[in-house]
Amino acid sequence: MLSLSSPQVMQETALRWKQEGKRLALVPTMGALHEGHLALVRAARSLADKVVVSIFVNPLQFGPSEDFARYPRSFEQDSNKLEELGVDVLFSPSDKEFYPDGFVTRVSVSQLTENLCGKFRPGHFEGVATVCIKLFNTTQADVAVFGEKDFQQLRVLQQLSADLNLPLGIIPHPTIRDADGLALSSRNRYLSDTQRNAALRIPKATAAALEATQSPTATVAQVLMAASHWLESPDTRIQYLDVVSETNLVPVSPETPISTILLPRLCLAIWVGPTRLIDNVELVRRTLLLDSPERQV
Ligand code: AMP
Repeated sequence: MLSLSSPQVMQETALRWKQEGKRLALVPTMGALHEGHLALVRAARSLADKVVVSIFVNPLQFGPSEDFARYPRSFEQDSNKLEELGVDVLFSPSDKEFYPDGFVTRVSVSQLTENLCGKFRPGHFEGVATVCIKLFNTTQADVAVFGEKDFQQLRVLQQLSADLNLPLGIIPHPTIRDADGLALSSRNRYLSDTQRNAALRIPKATAAALEATQSPTATVAQVLMAASHWLESPDTRIQYLDVVSETNLVPVSPETPISTILLPRLCLAIWVGPTRLIDNVELVRRTLLLDSPERQV
């Protein structure tokens, strides 16, 4: 595995491979790798001849009061894991290499970033879009794999790619969870045993929401009530809990029947002590949509 930090050398390497007719897949990460990241890497492996994994804790996507400084960093272990998976390049630029003095460009995607995380993390998705377009260009990737765990991020990057005619495919990957249902996240490392137990209220809430959705007349309000039953507790604080349509990520009004929403998804951000966790679940499986011709946006 090549370990590169220079964007220029990364791009030259990628261009050489492209000239040889190789297909490149990129998996962007911020490191502290877990099985969720590794699943994306395996998917990338099956899609391309060369796999590039980036590790870059992107300062642009953290707000001033967020956890940039204490974000977990475990480069040696990460590098060993990627080597074992047969990754071709680990690309990890320094902050100065990726954002040299005088860097002033920002890429901004509107509308899809107005709700959910975008509402509470001003500038976050601008930071994500900016770093991703730099990573796409630097690695010359044909495809980039992103987890549904960060569903709004995935939708923003799909939109960016379509709007700017980027010559790469954005490939979604399902969320990987622990056996007890908690979505894997680098930030789970912040949790004490007691806090991890409290965090299990999240998969219980999404399961309750799915259960409530089983009723053909279920409304958004009923589904949200089933979920908030688990999340309104002394150990957890809801930042947002919304049912949205995947098409526009706009929260749907409470009286709306779930059965009338196109691609309904429950999205949430929950504080467990000082740690903010996000998760989401599709409320109606895509295969079921095939026999529901009356669905609308
Ligand atoms: P991060 O390092 O948190 O920026 O995540 C890098 C990539 O891994 C993003 O595309 C995330 O959506 C994805 N990812 C993180 N956690 C999971 C998970 N539990 N399952 C699937 N993908 C994930």
